[in-house]
Amino acid sequence: MFKRILIANRGEIAMRIIRCCRMLDIETVLVYSTADKDSLPVQFANIAVCIGNAKASESYLLEDRIIETALAKGCDAIHPGFGFLSENAEFAKKCEKNAIVFIGPSSKVISMMGNKDAAKKLMKKHKVPVVPGSEGLVSSYEEAIKVANKVGYPILIKAAAGGGGRGMRKAFNESEVKSAFEEAKAEALSCFANGDLYLEKLILNPHHIEVQILADSHGNVIYLGERDCSIQRRNQKLIEESPSKKIDDDLRKKMGEAAVNAAKACKYTNAGTVEFVLDHEGNFYFIEMNTRIQVEHPVTEMVTGIDLIHEQLRIASGMKLSYKQEDVKISGHAIECRINAGSPGKIDFLHLPAGFGVRVDSALFTGCEISPHYDPMIAKVIVRGTSRLDAIKRMRAALEEFLIDGVPTNKDLQYLVMYHPDFLKGSFDTSFMELHGKELVEFNEESRKEL
Ligand code: ADP
Ligand code: ADP
Ligand code: MG
Repeated sequence: MFKRILIANRGEIAMRIIRCCRMLDIETVLVYSTADKDSLPVQFANIAVCIGNAKASESYLLEDRIIETALAKGCDAIHPGFGFLSENAEFAKKCEKNAIVFIGPSSKVISMMGNKDAAKKLMKKHKVPVVPGSEGLVSSYEEAIKVANKVGYPILIKAAAGGGGRGMRKAFNESEVKSAFEEAKAEALSCFANGDLYLEKLILNPHHIEVQILADSHGNVIYLGERDCSIQRRNQKLIEESPSKKIDDDLRKKMGEAAVNAAKACKYTNAGTVEFVLDHEGNFYFIEMNTRIQVEHPVTEMVTGIDLIHEQLRIASGMKLSYKQEDVKISGHAIECRINAGSPGKIDFLHLPAGFGVRVDSALFTGCEISPHYDPMIAKVIVRGTSRLDAIKRMRAALEEFLIDGVPTNKDLQYLVMYHPDFLKGSFDTSFMELHGKELVEFNEESRKEL
């Protein structure tokens, strides 16, 4: 196992990795920006090195500076967390060149799966069901119309380099294709500096179901059940749960095996997620593979009892997985609410929920500053219950207990979702927020006024 690793990230995921390393007696070197000088991970890492300014492009994305720091501090490996450099094949390659282990798959696999259109092709070849769509990229809206006439409307135009829900636009008929194409292209260029687009059939109001996998360098690949991430806003996840109400044992096995197949097809190693959309007839289709630890990994940890960061470290150091497929048992039900800050600012007061079955992953403390430079997600509240209803009730209690002053958050909105009849029944899909979001926000604002 590694002796010392560098963490190239910040906030809650940096804390998550530091906690795991402390337990394993691995020393941590944290790189940070001037904006994060008073942050929790800076205080808890064994060594913290300021590498630049607040802007991510002048700190957390400085590949060479980070590698130099790892070398200077004698680190065996680099954990990229999620976001930032986690899916950057060039960076992984630089690590490889400098004999530093990148805690993730090989640079080759990252670049292969990072191109979503090429990834789909590979999956199709290996008999993993994919969403029908273009064979390769579409270079003009005229071509998109031709493909759309074949696959049928509605369609979705997507950025090949996409992520974070950006660079995708719907078209319900031919007259909408031109603007969808142009808008997707503009967003793809500005977010990813890559305007490559492909086309998929838009699966109407699907469930987003993803399968967590672990793969070691000895050829062992296992799946750890699914996460239902259908509560989204602008294609960005807000609430995740495991197991999914829509998945029975039979479908779980089918999707799990498809995910293992997908991982084997690209010779995957480390933790990864295979994302699918599931339609209302029970058909599932591959949409992409995320080659990193994911924001919502704790829900899987809560129902399997498997520490995914620990497994990542084991795999990257060349060890075998601690578990075989038959060791993986899903027990109880877990839900995660992502708590996002509505604006930057200083946290004047904070009380985080705790207690039986409650877990909070965050780097918050009273007095800390929420910087405008980074992702607005400031905490994750995760609960486990014996049943789904038990977990929902525990989440309500946890959110009631979550006290935070200084910046507005979406916790009240999350709380309202925990009472929504459709959420309770489990009769929701990715259209939930579009259908109910406005009404929930308005209800929330009305009730605030009354207070
Ligand atoms: P997950 O399923 O893990 O949430 P996401 O694709 O939403 O996966 O992204 C994980 C994290 O990385 C989130 O914090 C998200 O905001 C951030 N992220 C993803 N893609 C981008 C991007 N292109 N630009 C900036 N941040 C991104
Ligand atoms: P990203 O890389 O931004 O995470 P994804 O391809 O994973 O993009 O898609 C993000 C979300 O967009 C999915 O969770 C789903 O809600 C929606 N989506 C993506 N592809 C389709 C599709 N073909 N049909 C319907 N919804 C889709
Ligand atoms: Mg995705």
